[in-house]
Amino acid sequence: VIDLTGKTALVTAAGQGIGRASALALAAAGARVIATDINADALSPLTEHGIETRVLDVLDADAISECMAQVGAVDILFNCAGVVHGGTIMEASDDDLDFAYALNVKAMVRMCRAVLPAMINKGDGAIVNMASVASSTKGVPNRFVYGTTKAAVVGMTKALAADHVAQGIRCNCICPGTVETPSLKERLSAQGDYEATRSAFVARQPIGRIGTAEEIADLVVYLAGATYTTGQAINIDGGWTI
Ligand code: NAD
Repeated sequence: VIDLTGKTALVTAAGQGIGRASALALAAAGARVIATDINADALSPLTEHGIETRVLDVLDADAISECMAQVGAVDILFNCAGVVHGGTIMEASDDDLDFAYALNVKAMVRMCRAVLPAMINKGDGAIVNMASVASSTKGVPNRFVYGTTKAAVVGMTKALAADHVAQGIRCNCICPGTVETPSLKERLSAQGDYEATRSAFVARQPIGRIGTAEEIADLVVYLAGATYTTGQAINIDGGWTI
């Protein structure tokens, strides 16, 4: 059992999907949780669970500095914010690449930089970054920009872990396969035939179904509390990468 009592955890993109489920799971494990998102309305129901909420656009460097100045030291950071661009290299503009890089990579770097000084000072801290199976792990069709940026998350995670392991920092990333979230529903609907696209996504799952946000949240909690795991990219994908 992972007990996070006495720890403070900050989660980005906690308004829905995996971020929301993780904020709830971290709170259930005993942590004081600060849930952040750009969408204030999506955050507000979390307060019923004793979770503190803050509007934070991770693309805004000044907003990150301001947020961390107000929040102070955190023991756990879950960097969940990310965007999925659909398409091959031929369908990806420089703007698509810049936007995905800004959100999926640069914002994550800034969040890590913002929490690290206090973690190093304390000699203890856990960072969990959201990558994907579509990364350095696996080439997934129509995920060119996405896979490029999520591979960068794997690289950043390992580099940060190597630099700060002796200072008591653990940094790992999560590589989910397909997970039931509001944005997945949007992606499936955008293909036209929702049911057919959904069936095709289920068919590529050896385990026979799409994962839940709560299943991913369990791994976030594990990595938030893990004391002997660092620099790892952990697949959680219903057997997609067997
Ligand atoms: P989602 O896409 O359904 O929700 C994303 C949340 O991020 C929303 O609440 C939105 O308001 C917030 N957000 C968007 N831009 C933001 C910004 N600039 N600053 C702060 N918050 C912002 O959530 P999801 O599908 O659970 O995805 C979360 C993460 O998990 C992403 O990084 C995604 O790439 C990754 N992931 C998802 C899947 C999947 O199948 N759903 C699989 C692998 C990895």
